[in-house]
Amino acid sequence: MMNTQLTLTSFIQRAEKYFPQKQIISRTLSGIHRFTYGQYVKRTKRLASALTSLGMEKGMKIGTFAWNHHRHLEAYFAVPCSGAVLHMINIRLSPEHLTYVINHAEDKILLIDEDLIPLIENIQDKLATVEKYIIMTDKQELPETSLSPVYSYEDLLQKSDENHPFDEHLDENAPAGMCYTSATTGNPKGVVYSHRGIYLHSMSIGLVDTLGISERDTCMPVVPMFHANAWGMPFAAVWFGANQVFPGPGMTPAIIAELITQEKVTFTAGVPTIWLGLLKELEKGDYDISSLRALICGGAAAPKSVIRAFENKYHVPFIHGYGMTETSPVATLSTLKSGMVDASKEEIIEVRAKQGLVVPGLDIKIVNENGEVPWDGKTMGELLIRGPWVADEYYKDDRSADAFKDGWLYTGDIAVMDMEGCIKIMDRTKDLIKSGGEWISSVDLENALMSHEAVFEAAVVAVPHEKWQERPVACVVLKDDYHGKVSKDELLEYLSRQFAKWWLPDDVLFMEEIPKTSVGKFLKRALRDQLKEQYSN
Ligand code: ADP
Repeated sequence: MMNTQLTLTSFIQRAEKYFPQKQIISRTLSGIHRFTYGQYVKRTKRLASALTSLGMEKGMKIGTFAWNHHRHLEAYFAVPCSGAVLHMINIRLSPEHLTYVINHAEDKILLIDEDLIPLIENIQDKLATVEKYIIMTDKQELPETSLSPVYSYEDLLQKSDENHPFDEHLDENAPAGMCYTSATTGNPKGVVYSHRGIYLHSMSIGLVDTLGISERDTCMPVVPMFHANAWGMPFAAVWFGANQVFPGPGMTPAIIAELITQEKVTFTAGVPTIWLGLLKELEKGDYDISSLRALICGGAAAPKSVIRAFENKYHVPFIHGYGMTETSPVATLSTLKSGMVDASKEEIIEVRAKQGLVVPGLDIKIVNENGEVPWDGKTMGELLIRGPWVADEYYKDDRSADAFKDGWLYTGDIAVMDMEGCIKIMDRTKDLIKSGGEWISSVDLENALMSHEAVFEAAVVAVPHEKWQERPVACVVLKDDYHGKVSKDELLEYLSRQFAKWWLPDDVLFMEEIPKTSVGKFLKRALRDQLKEQYSN
């Protein structure tokens, strides 16, 4: 067979050739921006030309500090298709971590959204490698900023060459992009994506048995473009010629609901907190989300109550996915097997609530101290993954040896495998509650609590205990109408119908809000720290 190189250049060339009329719709600070793939490719070539004239060269790291929008998508291809490496920086990192990732990646040029300028100004004195700043603004003129030297994105594009050639001789193993993932302790860890990895991952999420992304879709990544490449959707959508909708800066549940309604979005992706927020919004407004053929939820366990609402009330197939920054990220999906055709609604919810089958192309196994666990849906062990879009190290990081062993990625996630080969994530190793030598899954308890009609959000964490080492405590946010109307005992009684007595939380704390991580997951570390004090006294 021909040994042609699997690179991103072929994605954008295909979009240019076959889908010039397809649409890219982007919410910006100055309204909705629409253009075609034909125009998109020309602007992407202009960006490649502008960056090249500013000194971009092969292997150089170019950082984006941006929301989801069309300019970010231009950088997604202009940088790697010129042989440089796109570092998608998480805009919600702390100033310390932000400084760390930019210096560690050795970014030379930063592309920054106008409304995010202060976050970079704040750390500019500490940035050791950045030589140039480009501001992505809708206006021609540059906003006031202390960043220097600074350029206007649109101004640069205007002066550049719309026929600038992409690099057609890239090595498929060359780096194309990078993202950092949060670490339990210490600095974030960098994952470098090769052209080949992104190519194969994109192909896999186009399969009908996975996400089936196709030319007929209008895709809206709600998941940020800095969170594991927006789960690979923008790359695949360009390749397949799908319309794309980008929700832009500071999006809210109302903006998401409006965009789905107005743009007839068929496919969208985000973390569970996004979908919880959207459900609340749908109750309030006059929206129509019937265009959605599927919604993908990942990054943290999806509560059954959320799955049930989308599947049964809004008739939107809810695909629960599992993945990591290290796995590009899609690794397993809760797609339904043909045996489920006659399944009841509740049986379908049960399957959707698991993280599902491994996608074609990757291998998984679950191991504990006795070796590979049986497929009994009960025995817990650590999930291991390998395959062509799984990282084999962290970028220039001594911590690589802990996670990458014997050709496998040790995920740090505790899972079980059922008779169908579907996995269920029970917890992150660090979130599992170890009570009297037995494990309690915080995810299962949270899921059950969130299925109570009064509960909006729930996080269950371990607190230290003299006799049992650790015990679970539930932190609960009630829905607006239920404040002061539901007691701790009522919730514990509700849980006792589903769980053994020793699984029940020792306490239920009502809160205004659960702290979230930079990518919108429950920040259990903060809760644990907060409660440790309280319960050790
Ligand atoms: P971060 O570590 O910064 O949260 P990632 O998004 O890479 O960044 O996190 C990957 C982790 O998210 C996984 O190791 C797992 O613990 C969790 N995760 C991802 N998807 C799911 C899911 N569907 N159910 C439960 N946990 C999930």
